[in-house]
Amino acid sequence: MSETVLFLAFTEADGTLGRPALEAYGAACRVGDELGASCVAALIGGDVSPAAAQLGRGPARLVGVAGQAWTTSRYATDAIAADAVVREAGATIVVAAGTSRAARCLPGVAQRVGGRIDTHVTSLAVTQRRLEVTRWSYRQRIETTASRSARLWMILLEPGCVDAAEPSASEPARLERLAVDVPSTALRTRVVGVQSPPVDQQTVRPDADLLFVAGAGWTKKQPDGQVHAGEAEALIAGFLARSQASLGGSKSLVDMGGDGQPVLSFMSHLNQVGQTGSTPRHRKGLATCCHGEEPHVVGWRFVSERRAINLNPSCGWAQGKADVVYVADAFEVMARVNARLDAATSP
Ligand SMILES: Cc1cc2nc3c(=O)[nH]c(=O)nc-3n(C[C@H](O)[C@H](O)[C@H](O)COP(=O)(O)OP(=O)(O)OC[C@H]3O[C@@H](n4cnc5c(N)ncnc54)[C@H](O)[C@@H]3O)c2cc1C
Repeated sequence: MSETVLFLAFTEADGTLGRPALEAYGAACRVGDELGASCVAALIGGDVSPAAAQLGRGPARLVGVAGQAWTTSRYATDAIAADAVVREAGATIVVAAGTSRAARCLPGVAQRVGGRIDTHVTSLAVTQRRLEVTRWSYRQRIETTASRSARLWMILLEPGCVDAAEPSASEPARLERLAVDVPSTALRTRVVGVQSPPVDQQTVRPDADLLFVAGAGWTKKQPDGQVHAGEAEALIAGFLARSQASLGGSKSLVDMGGDGQPVLSFMSHLNQVGQTGSTPRHRKGLATCCHGEEPHVVGWRFVSERRAINLNPSCGWAQGKADVVYVADAFEVMARVNARLDAATSP
């Protein structure tokens, strides 16, 4: 059966493609080539011309749905547009980045067109002209490989798993603009605004080189018999500001607010890593004042260089999972690290 691989992307606010979309584009082109498939790219957004320019002459066919209705993520309008481009392209396989926008609407589109969808896919490969995908199951503990005979097959590729395609310098392919009717009922949901912390308070930074994991030890009684939550907060916030690392927290630490115990004001459940938290992909990890199995084993699953600072030389999880364990007081270590970073950056 001859396949048609459709790369489907929602553009950013400025009309460009973000890194997750360029990663999905690279993967779609590669498997399209290996399957000997026809390749089509579809862009959906308020403005899609900048994204078309990024793709250059790459895709054999380029279709776009653009307009006010697609400036923001909304299930009803995004699903109508995605449905239209999937049908227009005659796609048998759709590859898109696993962003919140795509994850919100594409499962519904798969249902509408009688297809199947796999989300949280971490890689795509072609073996003996068969497309296979991998994803993690059972809370990121078991990696499974799957293939499907059902068509249409939609695949949402998890951001950060493959290299992004380089934006093209060539003239864009001719963009076929699809006119899509939007019934007034699809516009009933209005996006009135976006609430997010100011950039300098945003501690979850998926693009950071380093994941700094804070454990509950930061808010426990220290050798002097006192709790030093204020000092912990200043040290951690100071380190994040200097290093631009991403902040992860153990479940014990992020749960403490609810228990009325000393907390770090910038730490929320969004920061939690581990089995019931996230498994971010950073090159390096530094766990501090942290003992738990889940943050070290599951939270670090995709982190390749791992270090830990713990007062307890017998902390089994840090010992078993970190490449280097510093048996030291994290308060002292981080104060010195901050001082060194200051010294390194001062003129
Ligand atoms: C079903 C289930 C799911 C779970 N999911 C998750 C999950 O997703 N993520 C998660 O994190 N946990 C999870 N947990 C909880 C997990 O098992 C641990 O209880 C938790 O991670 C422990 O948190 P912690 O290491 O921060 O705290 P603690 O176990 O209290 O460890 C604190 C550490 O700080 C060290 N310390 C104290 N002061 C200093 C200092 N000055 N310098 C250096 N070190 C110091 C201590 O030596 C100690 O090792 C889950 C548990 C269950 C049952």
